[in-house]
Amino acid sequence: MLTNLATRDVETLIHPYTQLAAFRETGPLVLERGQGVWVYDTEGKPYLEGMAGLWCTSLGYSNAELVEAAREQMMRLPFTHLFSGRSHDPAIELAERLKEIAPVPVSKIFFTSSGSEANDTQVKLVWYMNNALGRPQKKKIIARLRGYHGVTVASASLTGLPANHADFDLPIQNILHTSCPHHYRFGEAGESETDYSARLAAELEEMILREGPDTVAAFIAEPVMGAGGAIIPPENYFPAIQAVLDKYDVLLIADEVICGFGRLGTRFGSQRLGMRPDTISVAKAITSAYLPLGAVMIPEGMYQAMLEGSRKIGTFGHGFTYSGHPASCAVAIKTLEIYERDRIVEGVAAKAPRFEARFAGLRDHPLVGEARGLGLIGGLEIVADKATKRQFDPKLGIAAKVVSFAQAEGLIVRSLYGDRIAVCPPLIITEAEIDELFDRLTRALDRAEAWVAGESLR
Ligand code: PMP
Repeated sequence: MLTNLATRDVETLIHPYTQLAAFRETGPLVLERGQGVWVYDTEGKPYLEGMAGLWCTSLGYSNAELVEAAREQMMRLPFTHLFSGRSHDPAIELAERLKEIAPVPVSKIFFTSSGSEANDTQVKLVWYMNNALGRPQKKKIIARLRGYHGVTVASASLTGLPANHADFDLPIQNILHTSCPHHYRFGEAGESETDYSARLAAELEEMILREGPDTVAAFIAEPVMGAGGAIIPPENYFPAIQAVLDKYDVLLIADEVICGFGRLGTRFGSQRLGMRPDTISVAKAITSAYLPLGAVMIPEGMYQAMLEGSRKIGTFGHGFTYSGHPASCAVAIKTLEIYERDRIVEGVAAKAPRFEARFAGLRDHPLVGEARGLGLIGGLEIVADKATKRQFDPKLGIAAKVVSFAQAEGLIVRSLYGDRIAVCPPLIITEAEIDELFDRLTRALDRAEAWVAGESLR
């Protein structure tokens, strides 16, 4: 029986990323409040938020300092914009701060309200830059299968997942996809991670040569793939890829929307995985998700080309009403201050061994094929047969089933494409809470195993 609130929801809302038909039966999980790493539903039931919302509430719930930063700014100047040279101090200060902490030299910051907008902006800036540089044929952008970069028309084209392309008439032209770097699923028998990475780099090089290096502008990648399955790249993957990009003058766009600001135990995921990006997208943890904000970190060379381009046309014709919203910027400044003051990134590095070990511990479970964590993010893959890696019939929705058992156990995790389950808790989680999270997840897996065995579903 759906409650009154649930019924009103079903009658009024379209939910993102939801099986719309099934949802009419199950209804929503309506959350009401949060504290630390816990959220509470309308019945008062607590859940450990094992996904930090959508990989974003890094400082957890009810952080009064962030609320105060927003309140102060909203009382002083709730809105002004950055169009036509208008400005405000929170945007300037935040841009300075981002330049200081960037993992590579950054010249300018362009603000957006989301990760999708940041990646759409990346596509447009790469195209704009190459037009300005008089090489209009250098336009193709290579993304990866199972990469996730957002849902706007260009960013959804970069995303490499079937649900984002089929029936949406995507991808648009000039977007290509190369292989997903998932050793467990796609590595050949006996192939080491390093050899697999070398093979993927060779495949990328072939693609660039086939397309023509003078037509390939950029390669975009998340350090750890998030929504495509919480997939950690194999050993030496990015150094091998980077060498190919350097050889053919192809820019590396790092999508740090999940990994930026400490998720892997380094300030940026690029630093942990040996990436040397030319340009970077950030969002989510930049405000700990208390308000929407994204940003593109632009290198000097790209800026110079943009200057040239805008001289020709008379204006730089791109920007959103909420590019650099003052309240979002104020919250971001406070968030970055807290990361520094409370040594949040160092804390992640210190807790990561526990998180990674608990992930590794799940590998013994009869339903688990792969389980792997890095920093405070990880993914596991549900399989019907551990030896052959055979998966369950997708119609069974086995990962979604595990997630619903987890919910019953008071734990929020997320099921993803390919029967994968992601875990990505707030960065403030304690070691005791990490144990609690994995104890609950193990109970959910046990319940799923009992269901599979009981119904003879293998
Ligand atoms: N890039 C990555 C790596 C993401 O994880 C996401 C969101 N999950 C996006 C881009 C898109 O961000 P948004 O949903 O804010 O548009």
